[in-house]
Amino acid sequence: MRIDLHTHSRVSDGTDTPTRLVLKALEAGLDVIALTDHDTFDGVPEAVAAGKRVGLRVVPGIEMSTDVAGRSVHLLGYGCDMHNPALNRELLAVRTGRSRRLPAMCEQLSEVGVPVTMDDIKAVSPSARSLGRPHVADALVAKGYVADRGEAFDKYLAEGKPGYVARYSTDLARAITLVHDAGGAAVIAHPWSRGNDDVVTASLLESLVLGYGLDGIEVDHEDHDADTRRLLFEMGARLGLIRTGSSDYHGAGKEGHALGCNLTRKSAFLELVSRIRARGGSV
Ligand code: AMP
Ligand code: ZN
Ligand code: FE
Ligand code: FE
Repeated sequence: MRIDLHTHSRVSDGTDTPTRLVLKALEAGLDVIALTDHDTFDGVPEAVAAGKRVGLRVVPGIEMSTDVAGRSVHLLGYGCDMHNPALNRELLAVRTGRSRRLPAMCEQLSEVGVPVTMDDIKAVSPSARSLGRPHVADALVAKGYVADRGEAFDKYLAEGKPGYVARYSTDLARAITLVHDAGGAAVIAHPWSRGNDDVVTASLLESLVLGYGLDGIEVDHEDHDADTRRLLFEMGARLGLIRTGSSDYHGAGKEGHALGCNLTRKSAFLELVSRIRARGGSV
């Protein structure tokens, strides 16, 4: 059974429609995927319907932008009630923060000689319900200032670069509670990517397990090398965490993240499903 629990569509910063994503997952020989767009469920109904048509199981998911002591940590939520009011209020607050920072980013980019307007950003993201730096990157590419998203982040958009503007994100512990209260299971995405190993420490994970019932961590991810995967796998085992693996597929938006390049073991998936069912979520 081939299970990939972290993918993005063009409803956030992926490049495929939810339907196309499902068809590509089928072509890649997957049996189960989760659609986990950033801070929005808007692509899920289309993906679930497409999955039903072609016989591929689509788990409703989300990737929430969260904050730990000023650092960005991503939390995957699986099987949540997509209409849960508290969760949706919070997601709206995050998406509003995402949109509100864009004019400031445009202004800063024009100050360093690479002017981009809100119209440029909208032109490259017509289907996006959740706007992010990758869309600003696409606008920089479209205007010919950089070759790809990677160069856009390296030169302008990464933290500390001239186009960077911070935004609101949910406190991590609170996000876990929101996911659980919506019936879902909470898994920290790529815990040690981008230098986050000094944020997502063993002691933080232990406190999230004991205090908030964190369900799992994503171990097999392209941002983790072999040593990192082994350390996280062992740490997760000690803490009783479900350990997942996934592609974090973004279509053409992220190189080297092919669908199914990392997989979740069937036993881990079944444990997630049983926790979601126990909380009344849908999967
Ligand atoms: P945002 O959520 O708008 O702040 O943008 C963060 C997203 O940009 C992440 O989810 C990544 O997918 C992507 N990203 C962050 N840093 C980089 C980078 N250095 N190169 C390419 N993509 C990046
Ligand atoms: Zn993304
Ligand atoms: Fe992420
Ligand atoms: Fe992701």
